[in-house]
Amino acid sequence: MSPPLVIPFFIPHQGCPHLCVFCNQRLIARQTSEVQTFDSEAERLSDVIHTYLQFKKNRSRVELAFFGGNFLGLETSRILALLKAVQPWIRQGQIHSIRCSTRPDTVTCQVLDLARPFGLETVELGVQSMDDRVLTLAERGHTSEDTRKAMALLKDNGLKTGVQVMVGLPGDDDFGAVHTAEALTELEPDFARIYPLLVLGGSRLAQWYRSGRYVPLSLEQAVDQTKKMVTIFKCAGVSVARIGLQATEMMDDAGQMIAGPWHPAFGHLVLSALMFDQACEQIDTVLTGQIGWKGIEPPGEKKSVVLQVHPRSLSRLQGNRKTNLDRLTQTYPGLSFIIERVETLDIDQVHAHILGMSPK
Ligand code: SF4
Repeated sequence: MSPPLVIPFFIPHQGCPHLCVFCNQRLIARQTSEVQTFDSEAERLSDVIHTYLQFKKNRSRVELAFFGGNFLGLETSRILALLKAVQPWIRQGQIHSIRCSTRPDTVTCQVLDLARPFGLETVELGVQSMDDRVLTLAERGHTSEDTRKAMALLKDNGLKTGVQVMVGLPGDDDFGAVHTAEALTELEPDFARIYPLLVLGGSRLAQWYRSGRYVPLSLEQAVDQTKKMVTIFKCAGVSVARIGLQATEMMDDAGQMIAGPWHPAFGHLVLSALMFDQACEQIDTVLTGQIGWKGIEPPGEKKSVVLQVHPRSLSRLQGNRKTNLDRLTQTYPGLSFIIERVETLDIDQVHAHILGMSPK
């Protein structure tokens, strides 16, 4: 089944009682001034919906998403105004449900009772970390316990749940990233999004960065930590809906980014790194199983290994600028590699066999 068409309607940073250290005040002020009265906002919403519906194609489901702010923390009258503005499309069957992103500490029975009858079906929590020390340093204004309570409440109300987490927060590290992913899998969210923390101009983090108080992750570190989180989520059956920050979400002006592990294809880097690891495991297995290789010496006379992937994963296997292939050649100096496209494999699978020996 094709994924739903998600129509994003941004309410940038609205409804938020806090100012996290990584938030960009200049951006908030500018975007907030662009949001006008309810009437004009309803018009803006209508305009966005009409534009996106043109791209529905053959997708059977359409969801309207209130992103970019703390939706359930808005004033009740504002929440109602926005939800009511979507109803004509829901009644006509053109939009099937509503989703929103929100802070864990604004999820209450009252606000869920208010929103659910209007078609709210999915809530994404801005969790960021499950380490209270890290949350305090980032001045998030909520705790990991708030996340646990919010998740329980959302599930009790039959809502689909997503969690948004960050790598590279002040005071966080590899261990913290792993802990956050593991703690979240215990709460059984339906999906996760992982973002690397970037230093944006106008944020307090930018001041910390300039004074040396905060050192961002390198791109390599961010990819590695994200890779570990993805692995934990996937092993627990939590799908990873997005990796990396979409350009339009916070980076509409590249000048806003002062430092941090920014890469336009961050998600691809992470998925390529995961596929490299998987390819190595597969190669080790066939070398050990088929020719008794012990993993110390090059495997005898030069051999060719066939790596099979789904056609859509070819670039993932090759890696950015073919770095994975270069690394494979360095890791296995006695081998050459042949890539075969196999439609029947899953998108994130890679199989290996030695040329001339049938795959097991
Ligand atoms: S919770 Fe979200 S909207 Fe509020 S200050 Fe932090 S990043 Fe900004």
